[in-house]
Amino acid sequence: MLWIPGPTEVRPELLAECGRPAIGHRSPAMRELIERLDPHLPLAFGLGADSKTACAVHSVSASGLMEASLHGVGPRVLSVVNGAFSKRFRDMGRLMGKEVTTIDVAWGSGVDPAELDRVLDQKGPFDAVTLVSNETSTGVCTPLGPSAEVLRKHPRTLLLVDLVSYIAGAPVDFDDHRIDFAFAGVQKAFALPPGIAVCAASERYMQSARQQATRGWALDPVRIVEGHLQHKTPATPCTPLYYALAKQLEDISSGAMLPEGERGLSGADAWQARFAKHERMRDRTLAWAAGHGLNPFPVEGFRSPTVSCIAAGELDVGAFVAGLKELGYEISNGYGDLKGKTFRIGHMGDHDEAGLEALLDAADRVIARLGSVAADA
Ligand SMILES: *Cc1c(COP(=O)(O)O)cnc(C)c1O
Repeated sequence: MLWIPGPTEVRPELLAECGRPAIGHRSPAMRELIERLDPHLPLAFGLGADSKTACAVHSVSASGLMEASLHGVGPRVLSVVNGAFSKRFRDMGRLMGKEVTTIDVAWGSGVDPAELDRVLDQKGPFDAVTLVSNETSTGVCTPLGPSAEVLRKHPRTLLLVDLVSYIAGAPVDFDDHRIDFAFAGVQKAFALPPGIAVCAASERYMQSARQQATRGWALDPVRIVEGHLQHKTPATPCTPLYYALAKQLEDISSGAMLPEGERGLSGADAWQARFAKHERMRDRTLAWAAGHGLNPFPVEGFRSPTVSCIAAGELDVGAFVAGLKELGYEISNGYGDLKGKTFRIGHMGDHDEAGLEALLDAADRVIARLGSVAADA
């Protein structure tokens, strides 16, 4: 069972949706399929009924929409880098010929809003800021409210946010958080097979994007968003995943996977209950770690609800991960330089608390065995 920080375990009902007969992507069936997504995508992005923000789906992995987001902004970009994916966002800007300034934040923490404000003031004006809400590489979740406050003082700067392992796992408030373009793949907290990605774009972002001379074609954000509004896709979409996404969105909105006592919830309440479940799973995972004398890698206030990154101390991470795999549970070693020093548990998507207890129980057994091996040596 996949407890890595994405891709995560996919329910059989969703896999079954991927097995439906093929449809023509210019057919009424495709149009109806896209229409099924529309009532629910605004809930994922936390949009109010009168929001002017547009949602869309595109057949590409999240990195594709990361690149698309940069096609819609001017050349001066400020990138907050606090892990592997925010570094990718920064590098992508450079490779696309943007003039990129970086705020380097220690891995394990998120950007200090005062520092963000200072750099925007002293080195700006910038056309855009890039930010990763949930650094899957370090388990750091950066609260979006404080950055939004800062960005409000810099009205001409657009905010581009990677929501990959965050959306459908934690509450987004796109408009309130003053986001201009946000995107995510579906293989993380949406718990679908990989291959398509969702996004939302503000009116301001769309105005900026229309003014950019070279937006390419396949990753042109205007083509992607305007196409979706017309219930069309620029190119042949991955229809099996559209079916799976439609069912998953409907199931989340109807509270279908919530614990028994919460089954009556629907709409935004059901989404909130899903987010609360992830917070409880984070708290339970960190309490379990504390019981073994292990501390979270991220600093207080930045601990992700969907992926816990835990400092391994004396624990042999390679042996621990391998021992769990033998028992049927896959978790991840640390990322990059953190390999061997941390391990990561992805408690996202449709994983539930009973499943987490079973995983932690197995982890206890592996740790007990490793401890006795160490004692014998
Ligand atoms: C997984 C991940 C990505 C990359 O997603 P792909 O679908 O592999 O392109 C980007 N950002 C974050 C935060 C991620 O967790």
